[in-house]
This record gives sequence, structure tokens and C-alpha cells, in this order.
Amino acid sequence: MFAQPGANLAGTERGREAQALLRNCVHCGFCLPACPTYRVTGNELDSPRGRIYLIKQLVEGAPASATTREHLDRCLTCRACERACPSGVEYGRLIDLGRELAEERVPRPVSQHALRRAMVEVFSRPRAFTALLRTGQAIRAWLPATLQARIPPRPARQPPALLARRTRRIVLLEGCVQPGLAPGINAAAARVLDRLGITVERVAGEQCCGALGHHLGHTGRALAQARRNIDACCAALDAGAESIVSSASACGLMVKDYGRLLAEDPAYAARAQRVSAATRDVSEVITPVDLERAGLAPGTGPRVAWQAPCTLQHGQRLVGRVEPLLVAAGCILEPTREGTLCCGSAGTYSILQPELSQELRRRKIAALTPGAPDVIATGNIGCLEHLRAASPVPVRHWIELVAEALDR
Ligand code: SF4
Ligand code: SF4
Repeated sequence: MFAQPGANLAGTERGREAQALLRNCVHCGFCLPACPTYRVTGNELDSPRGRIYLIKQLVEGAPASATTREHLDRCLTCRACERACPSGVEYGRLIDLGRELAEERVPRPVSQHALRRAMVEVFSRPRAFTALLRTGQAIRAWLPATLQARIPPRPARQPPALLARRTRRIVLLEGCVQPGLAPGINAAAARVLDRLGITVERVAGEQCCGALGHHLGHTGRALAQARRNIDACCAALDAGAESIVSSASACGLMVKDYGRLLAEDPAYAARAQRVSAATRDVSEVITPVDLERAGLAPGTGPRVAWQAPCTLQHGQRLVGRVEPLLVAAGCILEPTREGTLCCGSAGTYSILQPELSQELRRRKIAALTPGAPDVIATGNIGCLEHLRAASPVPVRHWIELVAEALDR
């Protein structure tokens, strides 16, 4: 697709980047069936090809309206279209660019802007978020049913981990909302890694990974958070940590992208690259052989439906890693359908686009439960909470199931 950057972008790095990214799209439409929003609305402008056309118009400086912005807002950034595209279009980069341009060209109403700002402020501060969550949990019984469904029960208090000091050390990122919503996930990861001879450390000064602000158009704030995390993670790597590990695939994806996002920052480019290269999803640190050596027997655990988060399978391109770990931990994998379909969570999407988000969740749960599993397992706190609110069976992080198998 040829694009001639308009006056604002002509001769700029952003304009050249946009041209290069758009050039790869040949309008073939192979991506359309992979797109969750197109499958729900049937509107070409809610498809990758339609949105790429809108982004081309924004790049060229053609008239844009709130409708343009709405079709870009409806994108989940799930990147299922990238995997379906035979031309290698980097849609994730294109939609980030398109959203930036739409924010500049079509300012939002004050109420929308304020809601987005409030979400970035609250969700990226673990203490503020946890305090708000605990208040909601305390008054949950008196709230309307729609709000009650969004507030999970208070998690059981986690016993302090009594872990040995090992030679191998990794940094386990805490995340922003996960410590309040499900502290058991990182506690489970720490227990599993300890059994495998790896000590888990926290990194001093960890910030929100920046994904939230990045996808809501607060790029400056997201990059400032990224820089502080890079300072903290480089110090940990210098002190001997072998990798930076995340149990939330959305956060892991963002940290793996620091190198690209800060490539033009002379003070941070090299260190951002170093941190991205050292970052792993927790499923990359454990192998089935590790679990077999730990004495786990196959076929003795719960029947599990595996839900691969988009950030894990499309973003990090980690496909088929968790299933063998669950099997090695004794779980029995139940058949599912539509494995590449987004569950509709997508960070704050479930708040900003509730109708589409809930329809996608309904479809996803139907696709996950034909085998009547005991539990749905996933690898990202956003997907977990979104599915949990409507699932007929418990939804857990897969590492919790592995830890429970080792604890038995
Ligand atoms: S993004 Fe890829 S699959 Fe979709 S229309 Fe363009 S070239 Fe075809
Ligand atoms: S990222 Fe997902 S929702 Fe957005 S256009 Fe691609 S497939 Fe559709």
C-alpha cells in the first residue's frame, strides 16, 4: 500500500516508518477471518485491512473524524492478524502509530480523556490499585451486580516463602494489578523456580511496564516508566541475575519491546536492548524435563482447558510451550476450539469497549469448555480476571497448577 505522508509527517522519521510499514500490505484480506472485531461486527473498518486504510489516511493528512478514531479504538491489539498475514505486515506497530496520529488529529471529549488518564494513574500504581480493590471487596455485597462481577473475591493471604538461596538467580517482575488481584501467581512461580534451583528476586524501584499508557496514547509516560525499569533491571543484571522474568504475558511483551521503543534514545538504546534480550516469560524458564525430574506423574491432576493469551501466542510468538508443562505437571488437557481468538480482555478494552469485549468473552468461554474442564488455565492476569468474571469453572494461572502439583 503506497502512502504519501502529509505535511505534518513529510521528511520525518515517523513518516518514513509509516511508509515502510504500510508498503507491505497488499490488500489481500487474508487477515480478515483472524480478526475478532471483524468477526463480531462484519464491518470492513473493524478489520485489519480497513484499519490499515484508515491509518494510511491519517498518515497522508486526509480528513479524520471521531469515527476514524472509534474504529482504531475497537482494535484489541491482539495481533492475530499479524500471524495470518502472508506479507509480514507489522500491524502492532501500525496501530500504535495510527492511534498516536488519531489522538493528535481528533482530540477526545474531556470525559473520555479523563477516564483514560484515571485508568493510567490508578492501574499503574500497585498501592493505589490495591487500596481501591480492597475497598471494593469490602463493600462488594452492596454494589450492583455488574460491578460485583468485576471485583474478584479477596485472595487468601500468602504465607511467606521460605526459599533457599540458589546459585542461579532471576528477577521476577511484580506487575501493577497482579499483586492486589492474585498474589498467589508470583508466589507459585517462586516456589516452582525454587524447586528447580533458581532463586527469585524482586527488583528495587520496579515501575509499571508502561503497556497501559502505551496503548492508551500516553506514550511519554510509558517511556518514562520503561526508562526507570531499564535502570533497575540493568542494576540487577550487573549484580548477577540471569534474566528478567514475567508471569504476566502482557507485561513481558512490553518489556521485550523496550529495545525497539527506545532505539532512538542515545542514553537508553543499548541498555533497553540488553533488558529486552534478557526478558523471558516464565514458561521459557521451565521445561517439561525439569518437572519430570521433580517426580511429577502424568494424568493425575485436574482436567484443564488451556487459553493462550494473545500477548503470549501472537505478541511473544510463544506457541505450544505451556501445554507440555501442564501435561508434565499431571494435568489432563481438554479439547478447545478457536485457540487463536482473543478473549476480549486486552488491558482496559473490557472497560472501554464493554459490548464487544463481553461478546468475545462469551464466544471464548464457549470455545474453552466443550470438554467440561475442571479449570481454565491462562498466562496473563488480564485474561484471567476477564474470563473469571463469566466462567462456569475456576480460571487460574498455569504456574499455580504446576506449583500445586509440586506441593502435593
Ligand atoms: S495486513 Fe496482510 S493479510 Fe491483511 S490485507 Fe494487508 S497484506 Fe493482506
Ligand atoms: S490486532 Fe486483533 S483486533 Fe486488531 S485488527 Fe488485528 S486481529 Fe483485529
